[in-house]
Amino acid sequence: MKLLKEKIMSEGLVLNDAILKVDSFLNHQIDPELMMEIGKEFHRRFSGCGITKIFTIESSGIACALPAGLCMHVPVVFARKQKSALMSSEAYSTKVYSFTKKITSDVTVLKKFLPAGEKILIIDDFLANGEAALGLANIVQQAGSEVVGIGIVIEKSFQPGGRQRLIDAGFRVESLARVQAFKDGKVIFAE
Ligand code: 5GP
Repeated sequence: MKLLKEKIMSEGLVLNDAILKVDSFLNHQIDPELMMEIGKEFHRRFSGCGITKIFTIESSGIACALPAGLCMHVPVVFARKQKSALMSSEAYSTKVYSFTKKITSDVTVLKKFLPAGEKILIIDDFLANGEAALGLANIVQQAGSEVVGIGIVIEKSFQPGGRQRLIDAGFRVESLARVQAFKDGKVIFAE
């Protein structure tokens, strides 16, 4: 997606050999117009798949998933990263190791928002090692629903186990920008 790549090139900061900082348009300040274009692009790529719901993870996933939900006219549900006392038995939960925070947390969603028989599109901001996406897919499967695909805004294709783990698990992966490498503080795209 050209617009996204241009934004990454002009505003993305390569923090180290593994982390790209995009807090000027995605992870802290949010560019609503860019998010809308991202939503349209997910809609285009997954059109005809019969998606009934979008599932993401707080907090940055929400900004990417909401415009896609608007374009597809389906609800957006987000998993929470912290267990709430209110949730317990009425919730699905799984453990997800965070690539950026280096901690494992319980990711939870209320069962009533994820009933069986749904066709789910999972959306997240980044794909690194695939932990978050696999955790969300695990919850969808606990719920008895189908993962129709996984939509990623920025995929770091150089990180082992990311895309391949998702494909090996049988999921369709669509990434809007695929980063092949970081070179001299610059982002090199895969295609
Ligand atoms: P994974 O679960 O695929 O290992 O990592 C994806 C999650 O880690 C995303 O939800 C995202 O929040 C975070 N993440 C991974 N890599 C990056 C990165 O380079 N930059 C930022 N801002 N977040 C990242």
